[in-house]
Amino acid sequence: MRQLIAGNWKMNGRRADSAALVRAVRDMVEAQAPACELVVCPPSTLLAEVAAALAGSAVAVGGQDCHPLANGPHTGDVSAAMLADAGARWVILGHSERRTSYAESNALVREKAKAAIAAGLTPIVCVGESEQQRLSGAAETVVAAQVDGSLPPGFAGPGFAGPGFAGPGFAGPGFAGVVAYEPIWAIGTGRGASAEDIAAMHRVIRDQLTDTLGAASGAVRVIYGGSVKPDGAAAILALPGVDGALVGGASLVAADFLAIARASSRG
Ligand code: PEP
Repeated sequence: MRQLIAGNWKMNGRRADSAALVRAVRDMVEAQAPACELVVCPPSTLLAEVAAALAGSAVAVGGQDCHPLANGPHTGDVSAAMLADAGARWVILGHSERRTSYAESNALVREKAKAAIAAGLTPIVCVGESEQQRLSGAAETVVAAQVDGSLPPGFAGPGFAGPGFAGPGFAGPGFAGVVAYEPIWAIGTGRGASAEDIAAMHRVIRDQLTDTLGAASGAVRVIYGGSVKPDGAAAILALPGVDGALVGGASLVAADFLAIARASSRG
């Protein structure tokens, strides 16, 4: 399965500095042609400009959240259809920063993922345990429940009939949703999870995907996020069951983001 490297810019960026970052990413992608699929997710204020600057390149654009409804009296929110209208093709949902700061439940994330699919966006649904949950031995149960509760029907893509299938009804690579395993204690801390823990949790997620979505779940990529940096990216991306990476801090430096993309072992 082609690996996905997605950059989450979070609440960072002004028009001037993001234009320089995007130009650098675009130039480096053209020069180095990494084999993986690439997405950057800027804040909503920059989406349309970043999408325009990356049009025709190998880098797609995504949002960082969406409302479950298409329009209405929801001050401060942005719908999936609005993200798509601004040029997004992807959207990150259920990031732990949103689950924590806004008490987003699995059920809400599921509704958002449904709205994203209806708007033609590919959802990247984040799951991951807190440090306390890991220390108490609950990590696998928590993450499996997040996967089961956060993914709507259709997450694996309509008409998909298992790995390798590319017949009528399959919209192509990138269409099936993505699950990002992001242990909360590893995000932005410089303390990535161990290779053993990443591989073990990706197996748990893959098993839960089969239980929740059936055979079609083979199309869903499971990617890792949590302090992924150029050093160490190749080792993570070579692990069995790791279909890419969600990158926070390092995605704000074009050379680091591209170094991670170049470390992708399965293009
Ligand atoms: C993230 O926020 O999704 C993330 C993985 O951040 P960082 O790479 O900075 O840990």
